[in-house]
Amino acid sequence: MIHEVLPVGLLQCNCSIFGDEETREAIVIDPGDQIGDILAILKKHNLTVKAIVITHAHIDHIGGAAKLKAATGAPVHMNQNDAGLYDALEQQAAWLGMPSPQRTSIDSDAPDGARLQLSGTAFHVLHTPGHTQGSISIWIPSENKLIAGDTLFRDSIGRTDLPGGNSRQILQSIHSQLLALPETAVVFPGHGATTTIGREREHNPFLQGL
Ligand SMILES: [Zn+2]
Repeated sequence: MIHEVLPVGLLQCNCSIFGDEETREAIVIDPGDQIGDILAILKKHNLTVKAIVITHAHIDHIGGAAKLKAATGAPVHMNQNDAGLYDALEQQAAWLGMPSPQRTSIDSDAPDGARLQLSGTAFHVLHTPGHTQGSISIWIPSENKLIAGDTLFRDSIGRTDLPGGNSRQILQSIHSQLLALPETAVVFPGHGATTTIGREREHNPFLQGL
């Protein structure tokens, strides 16, 4: 499995590009910005995008979705509980003092338990609300990898002081959905360095006593 991680945009959101070496099909997670760079990586590996997945509707994660969809024709998957947040994209842009990106339609809901298939590889949707109400994490068992969005970071957790945030709920999501994964699972947070479930269970100051 090809897996490239590209930090994009002002807030350096980690965009993940997964590609199957045989079928040359790809899934792109969190195309926040720099769609030209994402398309260059896809071209380098000769990949066709099959699905665009959004971990949550904050502008740094979803800002480039419309452009990537226009360039590839791939459907956009997002949890419907973040629809209101996506409707407020212009407001989010104003908070950051940046121009509002183009919006697109969401083609498919990504509820808890949903499964996306990239050739033989299953991508499982885990609903992990708390950072936003529609936050999801993507668990890829055969790769032993978790794409955590802004729910879990190395030594930290997602902020809960923005609209839709809930500090008790994010801890409950991490406890029930993420800490249930293998200790060795490699975690790719929405920003910053990679980690493992075991490391965060041991050292993350926010998770002590969970
Ligand atoms: Zn966020």
